[in-house]
Amino acid sequence: MTDFSKHKFGTKAIHAGAEPDPTTGAIMTPIFQTSTYVQEYPGKHKGYAYARGKNPTREALQKNIAALENGKFCLCFSSGMGSMDAVMKLLRPGDEVITGDDLYGGSYRMFTKVFANFGIKFHFINLHNADNISKYVNVNTKLLWVETPTNPTMQIVDIEACAKIAKENNIMLGVDNTFASPFLQNPLALGADIVMHSVTKYLGGHSDVIMGALVLNDEKIYEQLAFIHNSCGATPGPMDSFLVMRGIKTLHLRMERHCFNGRKIAEYLKNHPKIEKIYWPGFEDHPNHEIAKKQMRDFGGMISIVLKHSTVEDTFNIASSFKVFSLAESLGGVESLINHPATMTHASIPKAERDKAGVVDNLLRLSVGVEDVEDLIEDLKQVLG
Ligand SMILES: *Cc1c(COP(=O)(O)O)cnc(C)c1O
Repeated sequence: MTDFSKHKFGTKAIHAGAEPDPTTGAIMTPIFQTSTYVQEYPGKHKGYAYARGKNPTREALQKNIAALENGKFCLCFSSGMGSMDAVMKLLRPGDEVITGDDLYGGSYRMFTKVFANFGIKFHFINLHNADNISKYVNVNTKLLWVETPTNPTMQIVDIEACAKIAKENNIMLGVDNTFASPFLQNPLALGADIVMHSVTKYLGGHSDVIMGALVLNDEKIYEQLAFIHNSCGATPGPMDSFLVMRGIKTLHLRMERHCFNGRKIAEYLKNHPKIEKIYWPGFEDHPNHEIAKKQMRDFGGMISIVLKHSTVEDTFNIASSFKVFSLAESLGGVESLINHPATMTHASIPKAERDKAGVVDNLLRLSVGVEDVEDLIEDLKQVLG
């Protein structure tokens, strides 16, 4: 059994956690489609009692994702939101959370509509400059929750600076690393306590699975989360675990192409007469470009554009006119998608809050896929002229 934790990223993506099946030598991890395991005698079993708690296919995937983030522990959940729900359950009434004002809409919804009812207080602040954080810290602050790059305005939050403030104040730092994927950014190495992924996106990569993951090094927090994982039960099935393991085997190849295509398209759109503003962290004039360069390996394939003089109707017409890009929620799959955040992914955020965060009605978000970039640019030309 080789320990792949010291190998390079692509080797880990393919091999970490994926032992040949001991009974047959099958190179692919079997799909253990079972809910329970036979016991020889009450309590005498091979370490598996009931599949909500443990499933070998899921365990293989968890080892793999842990290796990609250079973490000791990983727990996979039935969705990204399921994994964040588990993190929130570490908190108690009266606790406070500091988080960004440019979050995934579903995260904002869960914080304000679910956990606020349990007496947890949230501060949504601009994390663009990490110095803002200290003003909101008090004895009740337990969690700093950061998304970077942010969705959809691609702001970059300085993870290392956040970790420093979190450590000084004994606050847990959680990073939603969905947009970067473990290929581009590893928050644990920058001082984060918990890394979260919507595995649905780049890790799965084929738009066929909903899943979430948490990765961490701290054994005590891991034990608490593992308890919540099993007690509350948002655990993924073995078939989905298998599909994600298969998807991850090409994560490094896909990410290279996402980044390559993303750069070409960002450059094409930058000076386009129909575009008022473009958000992509790879531009040297992006306000936090230096931090992006420091903490990310490359800049990814997520780009947002604000259309010039475009009413909601014009924007809808443009969003519906693509032939290669598909109009859909989600991101990170092999196929290119276009999304209207104000009415799709971010519809649960009130308009005033959205406008403040720059999620205006004439903003469109592109998830650049891994098709041939000439065809993608042709598609943009065909729509934007
Ligand atoms: C999609 C997404 C989530 C939620 O994940 P699901 O798998 O859809 O539950 C959380 N954060 C970000 C940044 C996302 O893009």
